[in-house]
Amino acid sequence: MTQHDVIILGAGAAGLMCAIRAGQRGRRVLLLDHAPAVGAKILISGGGRCNFTNTGTAPDRFLSDNPHFCRSALSRFSPADFIAMVRKHGIAFHEKTLGQLFCDGSAREIVAMLLAECASVRVDVRVAHRVMDVSRADAFRVETDRGVFSAGSLVLATGGLSIPKMGATGFSHDWAVRFGLRLTETRPGLVPLTFDGDLLALMRPLSGVSLPCSVAFGRLAFREALLFTHRGLSGPAVLQISSYWRHGAIALDLLPGVDAAAFLLARKRDRPKAGLGSVLAEVLPARLAAALAEPVAGRRMADLPDRTLLAVADQLLRWTVSPSGTEGYAKAEVTCGGVDTRDLSSATMAAREVPGLFVIGEAVDVTGWLGGYNFQWAWASGWSAGEAV
Ligand SMILES: Cc1cc2nc3c(=O)[nH]c(=O)nc-3n(C[C@H](O)[C@H](O)[C@H](O)COP(=O)(O)OP(=O)(O)OC[C@H]3O[C@@H](n4cnc5c(N)ncnc54)[C@H](O)[C@@H]3O)c2cc1C
Repeated sequence: MTQHDVIILGAGAAGLMCAIRAGQRGRRVLLLDHAPAVGAKILISGGGRCNFTNTGTAPDRFLSDNPHFCRSALSRFSPADFIAMVRKHGIAFHEKTLGQLFCDGSAREIVAMLLAECASVRVDVRVAHRVMDVSRADAFRVETDRGVFSAGSLVLATGGLSIPKMGATGFSHDWAVRFGLRLTETRPGLVPLTFDGDLLALMRPLSGVSLPCSVAFGRLAFREALLFTHRGLSGPAVLQISSYWRHGAIALDLLPGVDAAAFLLARKRDRPKAGLGSVLAEVLPARLAAALAEPVAGRRMADLPDRTLLAVADQLLRWTVSPSGTEGYAKAEVTCGGVDTRDLSSATMAAREVPGLFVIGEAVDVTGWLGGYNFQWAWASGWSAGEAV
């Protein structure tokens, strides 16, 4: 049996950061993963460039049954702290939009940075270890297919359920429950929405069309890009709203910031011989413009009554559509819900009733918006636990 001070299960974003901080404190850390390499999701994130944080990080950009829970960890390790580490390693980066920071080069640089930090504080990183059993007596005992390990602190950091093809498992959730912690309801987040019937028949031929849009669910709206897919809708605006959507209609403003009624009535005067499709194509992608104008195809603007144009304007402003579902964990960037924050300390991520047990990262019921927030939560929760393990 190999003895350490801390065993961290899951060498993803949160586990790596936790290992670094614990190692810096002189703790003997074992970081274990079942995958053949660490940080698989970091490598594929942000289209291979890793959107590693967001300068606009604030608690209101996170979903949780307890919206205040994330405050403490986010204040202990901020985007500026992560940026300082990135700069120290000479990694070039840029802001793409809305505070989202990406590597200029590759996400591989972020994984290499985290591994270099682990090495500098002698973290024992072991991959391709299948965990068979976990138990707790005087210390935690982790039995794997390649040895048995023991430590006074155990950190569950195996992430959420999204992208099972990449090795995502419910491991942290399952073991948290076995240790007596509660779970909140879990569901796919940051996920494309699906439609059926007439709506799908309308959307499917538009697959690949993208446009700036505002997507609202209830009182919440996101103004970013919308993408039609062969199963419904995706794109950042839809992914954002998907984390909040459970059932019911969402409303799309296809021309945010444009007075569609004034625009169409003006074009009726200026371009009376034009068809509605060619007028709409001035402000919308051509395929979408043609689809929306389909019911009045062949008629000139001059022949369309104002009330018809106002109805089109209304649809552009507030196209209300009810998704039939989501594309599920196979396509979800994150898992909403997870280990119930009522059972964890917000300052250290320690389980309240199980001394030495910690849960960090996506396994916890804290889910960020799209745009680098989820990694910031992983870094911050990992760091906070790393200070206490
Ligand atoms: C396609 C995609 C793109 C994304 N892009 C971004 C982005 O650009 N910016 C952003 O902020 N967020 C992004 N995310 C979300 C982000 O990747 C996650 O929120 C983040 O990785 C969570 O960190 P974590 O350490 O909690 O879990 P993970 O990074 O998922 O790490 C969990 C680790 O645990 C291991 N593991 C799982 N089960 C077991 C087990 N049974 N035994 C041992 N080890 C196990 C896994 O192999 C993995 O290494 C993206 C997600 C996806 C799917």
